[in-house]
Amino acid sequence: MNASLENEFWKKKPLEAFTPVEWEAVCDGCSKCCLFKLKQEDGSTVQFTNVVCRYMDQQTCRCTDYPNRHQNVPDCVFLTPGLARKADWLPSTCAYRLLAQGKDLPWWHPLKTGDPLSTKKAGASVYGKVVSETEVDEDDLEDMVVDWFD
Ligand code: SF4
Ligand code: SF4
Repeated sequence: MNASLENEFWKKKPLEAFTPVEWEAVCDGCSKCCLFKLKQEDGSTVQFTNVVCRYMDQQTCRCTDYPNRHQNVPDCVFLTPGLARKADWLPSTCAYRLLAQGKDLPWWHPLKTGDPLSTKKAGASVYGKVVSETEVDEDDLEDMVVDWFD
């Protein structure tokens, strides 16, 4: 493990105090936040589909152009400590959300296992469950809502 990530830093300080390296390392790579979602007009309900952003690599569940993600996809989530605290639509397993709630990371989190693929191996990512937006007609999204999101 990177020396700067030792000693379970996530238990010792608030999200705001994480270094940029620590902040990025907290993401478990589940890619659930890269799924297309449907919202009620009043924003009260959010449903997730099995349709994933075109920039996601379906083998690694990682963004293929992470540095430019917000230019490529204006809707791409810009996660901050504040958003982690209030975004109840993020999956309950989202590492930022868990820490914002004062909880620990799950056993399969890469920071605990030392294995960058452990989220995928634990079945906690979208791996094997999604199709790219490039293969789907936008009008069909309503038929692609999933029940495994959370
Ligand atoms: S839902 Fe949270 S932990 Fe999963 S990829 Fe998105 S930011 Fe990372
Ligand atoms: S641009 Fe990258 S990080 Fe953003 S939704 Fe698409 S795949 Fe996910």
